[in-house]
Amino acid sequence: MSQTAIYPGTFDPITLGHVDIVTRASRLYSRVILAIVRSPNKQTYLTLDERIDLAQASLAHLKNVEIEPFDGLIVNFAQQHQAPVLIRGLRATSDFEYEFMMSQMNKMLNPQIETMFMMAGLDYQFLSSSLVKEVSSLGGDVSRLVPSEVFRHLEFKLNNLED
Ligand code: ADP
Repeated sequence: MSQTAIYPGTFDPITLGHVDIVTRASRLYSRVILAIVRSPNKQTYLTLDERIDLAQASLAHLKNVEIEPFDGLIVNFAQQHQAPVLIRGLRATSDFEYEFMMSQMNKMLNPQIETMFMMAGLDYQFLSSSLVKEVSSLGGDVSRLVPSEVFRHLEFKLNNLED
């Protein structure tokens, strides 16, 4: 489809679950913009620049994927980029209610924009950025859950915080 799709999120940090979703979306849409929320309601562990740099390094091999920060309503960002589609990932147990609510709200705000859900890959059903941060901050090995660039950065950050 020659369309732009937006994949919005906090990406604090990007995980292999996110990479799986964006890779699959990049095969379906001519252009995918991974939109990183600048100031989410929740406090982030990584700065906006760190979240952008790590997403860029992790997705450099996907030529039709771009990374951009956004503020405000995602439907407005989508409209500004002529993107009629929002992509969201769904894990088996944790995401449905919140995602259902958000998609209804976005539909009310702008009926022209459709939310498309992709089921999380089997290996990533129980993977979340918050779990990655928690395990990594306790010294656990998250190398199989995140891109190698993210793994190295989390190790670096942890060691520097300890100093
Ligand atoms: P948000 O704060 O908007 O939920 P996240 O960065 O946590 O942002 O997630 C962005 C999107 O990726 C959401 O649709 C979320 O459900 C999805 N997602 C998160 N983790 C995974 C995963 N392991 N597999 C597939 N999709 C995921």
